[in-house]
Amino acid sequence: MLAAVLAGLAVAAPAPSSVRTLLLPDGAHLEAHAPAPRAPRLRLLPDALQTLPLHGPAPWSTPDRQLDLVVLSEAYTAGEQARFEADARAFVTHLLSLEPWSTFPDLLAVRAVFVPSADAVLDDLEGEDLRRTAFECTYGCGLEGVATSRLVCCDEPTVIEAATRTGEGTDGILVLSADPRFGGSGGATYAVAYTGDDEALRVQAHEVSHTLVQLWDEYELGVAVTPDDLPRSPNCAAADAALPWHRWLAAAVDWTAWHAALDAGDPTACDGRALAPGEVCAFPGCSFPELVRPTADACTMRSLQDRWCPVCQEAIVRRLYRALGEGFVLEVDPDPTRPVVLGDAPTTFTATVPHGDLPLAWSWTLDDLPVGTGSSLTLERGALGGGLLRVEVRDASGFVRSDPGGVAVRQQTWQVEDPGCTGCATGSGGLGHVLLPLLILPLRRRRR
Ligand SMILES: [Zn+2]
Repeated sequence: MLAAVLAGLAVAAPAPSSVRTLLLPDGAHLEAHAPAPRAPRLRLLPDALQTLPLHGPAPWSTPDRQLDLVVLSEAYTAGEQARFEADARAFVTHLLSLEPWSTFPDLLAVRAVFVPSADAVLDDLEGEDLRRTAFECTYGCGLEGVATSRLVCCDEPTVIEAATRTGEGTDGILVLSADPRFGGSGGATYAVAYTGDDEALRVQAHEVSHTLVQLWDEYELGVAVTPDDLPRSPNCAAADAALPWHRWLAAAVDWTAWHAALDAGDPTACDGRALAPGEVCAFPGCSFPELVRPTADACTMRSLQDRWCPVCQEAIVRRLYRALGEGFVLEVDPDPTRPVVLGDAPTTFTATVPHGDLPLAWSWTLDDLPVGTGSSLTLERGALGGGLLRVEVRDASGFVRSDPGGVAVRQQTWQVEDPGCTGCATGSGGLGHVLLPLLILPLRRRRR
């Protein structure tokens, strides 16, 4: 049952999928294996859950065209719905003030669901169960009956049930706790965080990165050995020649020098080169000791701060485009399914994106030679000749350097036929007339 619900949520399990983690302000962290689900307390959920749109969807959008986050209320009493909505809005405002989210507001949709709680604070100990709150979140999870800690876990089946009941397309869940004591945790299925101060906003953003983007912690979990069967992580990689973020490196990592620097006790120099602050390289320790992270300490996945490293930013942007998915379409003219014959009047080709204000760049080629930029291109008979006209529209935000899945690019081609210049108007071709002798001959030759 749980597996089916999880599949419906379309969440991938990052490693370690059963571990929940919390980053502390001093750089230390807490972690625990999520407690085995208790008997679900679904009876606590009201039959009808009211959903409040907090952000998006954009007017052009449909539910399957953006990254969808559900924010649930925990330990807010029946009279505190307005306070919950204000806290949830503060989270959204904070997230959308940070890059790269601020560049892609239209690709994120956030909705809030208020579920009242009888009590306004969480239990202090796992298994204590003195307080009645909507999602039975408790401090001290993983430490049943031993000690109080700031690590918070919730009753996962109830969290998932509440999120799935509010509609399709949920990509992540954030449980906001009214308890003002520092605490929270993040995992593959849901994040939970306290509320009430600026640090809480950072905790929320960090933990949401787990559930929404499947980013990994860039500090080291307390696990000595890296398991063999780890799924791929966007921001933690094995130390070898093929770093997935190699396009962010100023120079290829010299692994011999890298190991020498490490052995000499200077891992911050990466492979012996002096690095600029925040520069991407390969630093030892990323969830597991054998894995490397992209920056020394320029990422909130390592220590609480208001930024992600370039590699995590890239992963976030790719995740947003992946959510847009089939919604990233080009509306083109003229009809590309038939050859386009250039006539007496100039022919204008257009490729527009009917959604959002995305940071895109257009590049047009004719038989692989660059012929233009912008969302339209005009060709004149007898100017450049015919051939295969291609437009490529790709993300130009600067956050994406590697796009193996092709999620941030779309293409369209036309077969263009040019009957030649007989009778065509003079003085209209601009640079094309100058280039004509240079371009036409090689193009014609290639097509034979
Ligand atoms: Zn990072």
